[in-house]
This record gives sequence, C-alpha cells and structure tokens, in this order.
Amino acid sequence: MERRKVGILGATGMVGQRFIQLLSNHPWFEIAWLAASDRSAGKTYGEACRWKLDTALPKHIAAMTMQPNVPEGTVGELPKIIFAALDADIARELEPKFAAVGCAVISNSSAFRMVADVPLVVPEVNADHLSLIEAQSSRKENGGKGGYIVTNPNCSTIGLVMALKPLEERFGVESVFVTTMQAVSGAGYPGVPSLDIMGNVVPFIKNEEEKMQEEVGKLLGTLTGKKVDMLDAKVSAHCNRVAVEDGHTECVSIKLRKKATREEILAAWSEFLPLQGQHLPTAPSQPVEYDAGVDRPQPRLDRMRGNGMTTTVGRLRECSLLDWKFVVLSHNTIRGAAGAAVLNAEVLALLGKLDKLSVAVAPTVAVMA
Ligand code: NAP
Repeated sequence: MERRKVGILGATGMVGQRFIQLLSNHPWFEIAWLAASDRSAGKTYGEACRWKLDTALPKHIAAMTMQPNVPEGTVGELPKIIFAALDADIARELEPKFAAVGCAVISNSSAFRMVADVPLVVPEVNADHLSLIEAQSSRKENGGKGGYIVTNPNCSTIGLVMALKPLEERFGVESVFVTTMQAVSGAGYPGVPSLDIMGNVVPFIKNEEEKMQEEVGKLLGTLTGKKVDMLDAKVSAHCNRVAVEDGHTECVSIKLRKKATREEILAAWSEFLPLQGQHLPTAPSQPVEYDAGVDRPQPRLDRMRGNGMTTTVGRLRECSLLDWKFVVLSHNTIRGAAGAAVLNAEVLALLGKLDKLSVAVAPTVAVMA
C-alpha cells in the first residue's frame, strides 16, 4: 500500500519530536513536510531541532528542510494531512489556514477542542464524534474543499477518560475527583525552569484544571446531530507539576450512578476493547490495563506499556467520600499527545475521511534561502 504523505506543524517541539519518532516508520503515513516557527524555516530539521528523545533522529528527517508555516509558502506539494503540535494561541491562527485549503488538521492544541463542530476524540472512547467533520468541512471558510480540524484532548484528560469510559458505559459516572502529578515534558521544551521543579512540586498548571473538567464532559458526551451533549457529571481536578520526566499519574475518586463491585469494575476495564480487530497500527491491544501491584502504576515502570499507548490503572479500593478510588497513569507525549493524534489519523483513514480532501494551494517554486 502506498503510504499517505503527512506534514508536521510544530515539528521541533516535545510533541513534534514524538510525531517524528512515531511516524518515521509508520506503515500508512510518510513524513513529507515539516514546519515550526519562522526561526526554524529554511534550516534543516537537524539544525532547527534540539532532539530530546532516546531514539536516534533518522538521518533522512534530519536532512529535510523546514518549510514556512503557512500553506502558501510550501515549496513543492503540501500534504493533505497535517499533524499539528502548536501552542494554543499559534494554533488558533495557523490551523484554520490549513483547513481552509483543504487539509485534515489533526491537532494537539486546546484552541478548538470545545468548538461545537470540532471533534474532540479518543478513538476508544468516542470515535462516533468524528462525524462532526461533515458539518465542519462544509463551513464557508473551508471553501468547500473538504478540510477540517480534529483534536485530541489534554494530556491529563486522556488517561482519565480512558479509565472512566468503561465505567460510564456499564454503571454511569456521577462525579469525579482527580488529583494529577504531571511530568515536566508536559510543559514542552524548555518548559519548567529546573530551579522551580527539582526537589519540588508546583501546585499550579495554567488552565489545566479547567481543561480537564470541561473536556471530560465532551469526550463522554452524546453526539446529537451536529453537536455533543455534555455528560451530566461533576468533575473536580487539582493539577500539579512534579519532577518526573514523562508520564502523568492521577489519583481518582468516583461516584457511580449504579452500584458496582470491585470484580465488575475490573471486568469493565479488562473487557474494554473497542478497537479490537480493526488492525490500527498504533492501537494498543489492551487500552486499559489493571496492575494489581500494591505500589503500581509508576511513571518510570509503566508509562511504556503498549508502546506508550496503554493507560495503566491500579490500587482500586473503596472510597469513604465517593464510591471507589484508584490510580491512573498514561504517557503524556505518546498517549497524551502525538500517539493520540496518530491513532486519530488511523481511524480517519479507516473511515475513508482522508480520501475526499482536495488540497488547493499553488506550489511555490522559489528556492528558499
Ligand atoms: P513545545 O515543546 O514548546 O514546542 C512548540 C512548537 O511550536 C515548536 O516546534 C516551535 O517551533 C513551534 N512554534 C513556536 N512558535 C511558533 C510560531 N509562531 N509558528 C509556528 N510554530 C511555532 O510545545 P509541546 O509540548 O510540543 O506542545 C505543543 C502543543 O501540544 C501545545 O498546544 C500543548 O499544549 C500540546 N500538548 C502537549 C503535550 C505534552 O505532553 N508536551 C501533551 C498534550 C498536548 P520552534 O522550534 O521553531 O520555536
């Protein structure tokens, strides 16, 4: 099968680097276009990026020339599929430009997650919400070219909804109280100054608690026509930055609408296999895995389960305030960001939603300085 050409916007950042790592040998997608800020345009990727991952930067990627970050500036052909890893303010300005010329923009940023016709999707949780694309791609500003934006949630929301979805399906979720311990890579590069985080906990991450609280409602909400009705559940989040490199840990207490036993909850998690049989390259065989160890999950030991795509749950026990409490762990730059977006793209491919894009932008022939 010929691989589909893809681009990465924000390719030099923490999430952008994960995209490079996950897409370099992807069976369905081929990296054909890279862009970041104006500071990077015209350099090779190897010159523009401070590579921070523990696998080698592929030579052919290091040699690629960084393109300008607007569709019209592209030298050669603009790919129809753009993975975006930009801060929200920049995404708000740039992502619609790519959707307007007919690209599928698969975004990590919070800029459009809560917009009514923009799908906020985790494939195991709410793949049906992708049908919002039809409403969005007929928007006037998208010029009838079929372009659209699809988003994945905040890195701490993802682990939480993966653990909640199987419980919501079987018992209903009434309220959730969650305290996060979030890795420093979640703040991008260079992120939190070392003097602020070494030997320390920072009990504030700007806008994070608000994002978690509202995104859970949309992800677990019900699609009705051209919008999602939010889940009727209360979510209260405390978000903390801790001196961990990768992997967000969350302590969760929940109240269920219907009483459930410990065995029923464990069964709900282990039997949660919504993508089974779809043969999606990035989908983990066990999306939610329970570890019965008394002191698990731990970020250093458990974040790479399922190649970083599995959410690990542990320490299920009764809660004296709500019904049950447990610990959740997921890899923030893989399951919580780049891996989530790649899985979204795989589902879009499976559903035929990457086939009708007709990117219309005149190729630039000028040689970049
Ligand atoms: P980051 O490490 O700070 O990287 C930011 C990227 O944006 C870099 O490639 C940078 O390029 C580029 N950029 C900066 N200014 C730009 C501009 N004016 N135009 C175009 N590109 C520009 O951030 P990150 O952690 O990768 O996060 C990216 C997005 O993903 C954010 O919205 C974040 O909230 C979200 N996210 C992050 C995580 C995580 O765990 N890190 C998880 C989920 C979601 P230069 O190198 O040229 O400056």
